[in-house]
Amino acid sequence: MTTIAYGALCSWWDSADKAATLENGIPCCPHCRRVLFQMPESAWWERVAGCSDVRDYRAIVEWMRGKCFTSYHVALGAFEADAAKKASATCMN
Ligand SMILES: [Zn+2]
Repeated sequence: MTTIAYGALCSWWDSADKAATLENGIPCCPHCRRVLFQMPESAWWERVAGCSDVRDYRAIVEWMRGKCFTSYHVALGAFEADAAKKASATCMN
């Protein structure tokens, strides 16, 4: 089963094999090198499904994969900016 690693102090997440490692062997974010937590992938998606009160939460989480932001709110701002950019690009066709 795949293990998911996710930032304790940043928004980065991906499969654990994508994580970097500190000199002392602790897995860390490949971008900011802050420490990570881990959980089985099934538990990860269960947790995401549990946040169904946030609109498009799963799409946001999938978009966030492999990206490092200092917080979920910063990530959400970037997600919305990216979505707006895609929408305007579509409208210009
Ligand atoms: Zn990070």
